[in-house]
Amino acid sequence: MRAQIVILPGDGVGPEVTAAAVTVLDAVAAHFDHSFHFDEHLIGGCAIDATGEPLPAASLEACKAADAVLLGAVGGPQWSDPNAPVRPEQGLLALRAALGVYANLRPLQVHPRLAALSPLKNEKLKNVDVLFVRELTGGAYFGAKTRTSDTAIDECKYTVAEVERVVRRAFNLARGRRKHVTSVDKANVLETSRLWRSTVQRIAAEYPDVKVEHQLVDSMAMLLLTQPSRYDVVVTENLFGDILTDEAAALAGSLGLLPSASIGEAKAGLYEPIHGSAPDIAGQGVANPIGTILSAAMLLRHSLDLEQEAAAVEAAVAEVLEHGPHTRDIGGQASTTEVLEAVLSALDEQA
Ligand code: ATP
Ligand code: MG
Repeated sequence: MRAQIVILPGDGVGPEVTAAAVTVLDAVAAHFDHSFHFDEHLIGGCAIDATGEPLPAASLEACKAADAVLLGAVGGPQWSDPNAPVRPEQGLLALRAALGVYANLRPLQVHPRLAALSPLKNEKLKNVDVLFVRELTGGAYFGAKTRTSDTAIDECKYTVAEVERVVRRAFNLARGRRKHVTSVDKANVLETSRLWRSTVQRIAAEYPDVKVEHQLVDSMAMLLLTQPSRYDVVVTENLFGDILTDEAAALAGSLGLLPSASIGEAKAGLYEPIHGSAPDIAGQGVANPIGTILSAAMLLRHSLDLEQEAAAVEAAVAEVLEHGPHTRDIGGQASTTEVLEAVLSALDEQA
């Protein structure tokens, strides 16, 4: 197949990790006889420096026309002045809104070789395989904000339609997995959560083959640490999802390992590692490229419908996690390039 993929390297380690993922996508294209065309654009701090804007019109137009977008990371200390008129993160929020990507997917698995890096004990980490589905374009982050000298208000609003579309997504994804959905809310206190819960209950009736469980967000925060292997698909609203997915990410041992996909009604989605721009190691060639390479695998699966290719990349990564080489964040000495080379040779053996 032919696909047009926009690359947004961004700031910090972003260019290093996206370059590695593009090399992997090139190898996939060669092995499976596809033609991927890559188109690189500016976003974030580097875009502010070059154009004055965190998301230049040319970048946005290219993303809207693409089959998928792969992003590195945005931000860094040189752009973090809270009084600055524009900030790198605004570019990312604007891009998510413009692409209509309302569902943020974050898979979490704990590789047995890396379990020692996790704050949890080994036996609790066995068989951890969770897919978080976080609502990404509603709730308190997008509601009206007002401020007077002594009062601040963040409106938290959800419509039935907003809840429905992301919850349906979660149920459909559960059908391809272990058929268990955990919906997280705070229905004992919040009206938006009561709307959320009743919507989940109504949609659940359409999926009699999927088991549904409701958890309050406070107890879920605890359960993720005490019984992480119990969960399959976890669906929740924007703010709760932001917090729970970062909590869960700690279980994997390093931020550098985890991918994400942000998707909406359109086939085109936005794919990025969950880590930030890691300014402390930028430019040293030691960033772990695996989170971005796995994000590229999600791109193959969700935007291009290339399941076999996605699985081949994931298997190659699993091979490298098992046998090394490993970057410093996961206890090794290897460079970004050495890990990339190892993933490419493991992919050669798969394909
Ligand atoms: P942001 O504010 O952009 O979300 P953050 O504050 O969450 O960023 P990161 O930039 O993700 O922080 O970095 C947190 C720590 O994790 C840093 O010490 C960084 O070096 C490390 N880290 C992040 N990504 C990687 C990676 N790909 N490889 C190795 N280490 C990483
Ligand atoms: Mg962060």
